[in-house]
Amino acid sequence: MNAPTLPGLEPTAPTPAAIPRPGSRAARMALPRSVDILKEIAAEYGVCVRPLAMRRTDLDTGLTEVIDLPCGATREDKCGPCAKKNRRLRQAQIREGWHRDDEPLPGPEPATEAQKSLILFRAHLEFSRDEAIRAAQWDQVTDIDEAIGEVEEAIAAEGLRGRVGPPHVTEDSDEEPGGRRKRSTKRRQDAPDLPRRKVERRTVGKTYTAPDGSTFRPSMWLTLTLDSYGPVRPDGTPVNPDRYDYRRAAWDAAHFPRLLDRFWQNLRRCEGWNVQYAGCVEPQRRLAPHAHFAIRGTIPRDILRTVAAATYHQVWWPSVDVQRYTLDRLPVWDEQAAAWADPDTGQPLSTWAEALDAIDEDPDAEPVHVVRFGTQVDARGVMPGTNDAERTIRYVTKYITKNTGDCHKATTDRQRKHLDRLWQQLRITPCTDRCANWLLYGIQPKKANAKLKPGRCKGKVHQRDTLGIGGRRILISRDWSGKTLADHKHDVRAWVRALLGTTTDSATASDTGQLIDDQGATTERARHAWELARPDDPDVGPMSHRLMRSISERARWRTELLAAKDRAAQEHSDLSATQHSAQHDGEGTQ
Ligand SMILES: [Zn+2]
Ligand SMILES: [Zn+2]
Repeated sequence: MNAPTLPGLEPTAPTPAAIPRPGSRAARMALPRSVDILKEIAAEYGVCVRPLAMRRTDLDTGLTEVIDLPCGATREDKCGPCAKKNRRLRQAQIREGWHRDDEPLPGPEPATEAQKSLILFRAHLEFSRDEAIRAAQWDQVTDIDEAIGEVEEAIAAEGLRGRVGPPHVTEDSDEEPGGRRKRSTKRRQDAPDLPRRKVERRTVGKTYTAPDGSTFRPSMWLTLTLDSYGPVRPDGTPVNPDRYDYRRAAWDAAHFPRLLDRFWQNLRRCEGWNVQYAGCVEPQRRLAPHAHFAIRGTIPRDILRTVAAATYHQVWWPSVDVQRYTLDRLPVWDEQAAAWADPDTGQPLSTWAEALDAIDEDPDAEPVHVVRFGTQVDARGVMPGTNDAERTIRYVTKYITKNTGDCHKATTDRQRKHLDRLWQQLRITPCTDRCANWLLYGIQPKKANAKLKPGRCKGKVHQRDTLGIGGRRILISRDWSGKTLADHKHDVRAWVRALLGTTTDSATASDTGQLIDDQGATTERARHAWELARPDDPDVGPMSHRLMRSISERARWRTELLAAKDRAAQEHSDLSATQHSAQHDGEGTQ
């Protein structure tokens, strides 16, 4: 029955193990399509396979030119070459921040007198506003709010970063009418039982001195995992599907980002310095998220374990113990009451505010969910510049070009069923306080409106291929490398240019396409106007032609680059046999 399938043929197709008759349809289908090969070569040369045609008009001469910009996709299924390029940039970013021994950002400039007086004035307004509220002088409050708006604009114009305080909640904004809700202390996150220190501004780890006087500054690598939901087999599927806790798995996945935030917050407080990290969230084989991080500096392993064990995130949302409605019997929107109501009795469901009030008033209320890490906390030291460091960076970025759902493809029935059961749970898990799924539990979500569709909320958490991992998957702390990804992009270009010894845009146009934000092109920018070209414009041409041009350009460019590299290496070995230049880590950037 089961004849061995030929490589490249679908196992579903009945395949007599014979070579197709020459000239037959089968024989023709066996020949590779030239357009597929074109795409393959494009990928090989790192040429974007779905470039964006931009029309550049020279404002002096009026000449227009169509230039292909790379699409910049971060996922392989959209565009392999761009996704790989993005991964290389991420690797450069991680490499650069990991073992650095100086603070990435110099401290801010001291405040000027003008800036200080603005903040002082803003403080006075805050005082007056509070007084007006106490005296119930509502018209004054409105006036003061206007003044606050103006002062804050002035503060921003002075070039100060961030807001001086959160905006005041007014009646028609986020919160329910009738004034501010009183938050009971219960919904506050309890602080875990950890030592608390003042957090210094320092982000760089400790330096160690060896007996021979040499210094070294190791860094770390950390993996944080969620708790167990039941024993699993090596293929990630549960040993006993009925007893695997899919509900907890779904809620944990949805709230994992908050748990990670709390971990870093707790760790910094416990350690007393501004610990920096770069890492990513990805699914394990059992489809639960876990996170890998490069940490700058070292932290004792038992501290990492203690902080992980003490860290939790409580979700103070209404209870979801009873699902009161199902997809075939849903609450209905009552136009008159502007509220969702029971389909049979017409009674409006409790509003979000009422549901939260009920929690506040109930002395025995418990959080609807608490997320914690599992006991498995892997941490080890990594020395800068070692193979180990490079390998670890590759490992951290291994899955970032893939969609969450493609990291571990379900290939067996058992795996598909496991994924299905998780997804069924994710579909009915509320993703946020505004999620339409709250209606299933007889509660109107925050800002409820007629358009809500329970079970069909667009939130990423509910989609089958996100596995509940709805947020960002790359997590890099603010003071990691002191650069944004765009800065790193610029570094790559600068390096390539320095090596080529040219500044012609044509040499790098197809590679970077970022002529717009290029610093060297400031004068040029003034002379050119850019716009998106339409795919059917006569001078844009078929995609295959554009791909071929880009590939040819890239191939020539690569030859040039290799030659330049050889020349540089030659000169280097000629010039300095003694001088060590470990500085340049151009490897892997191109
Ligand atoms: Zn692309
Ligand atoms: Zn949702």
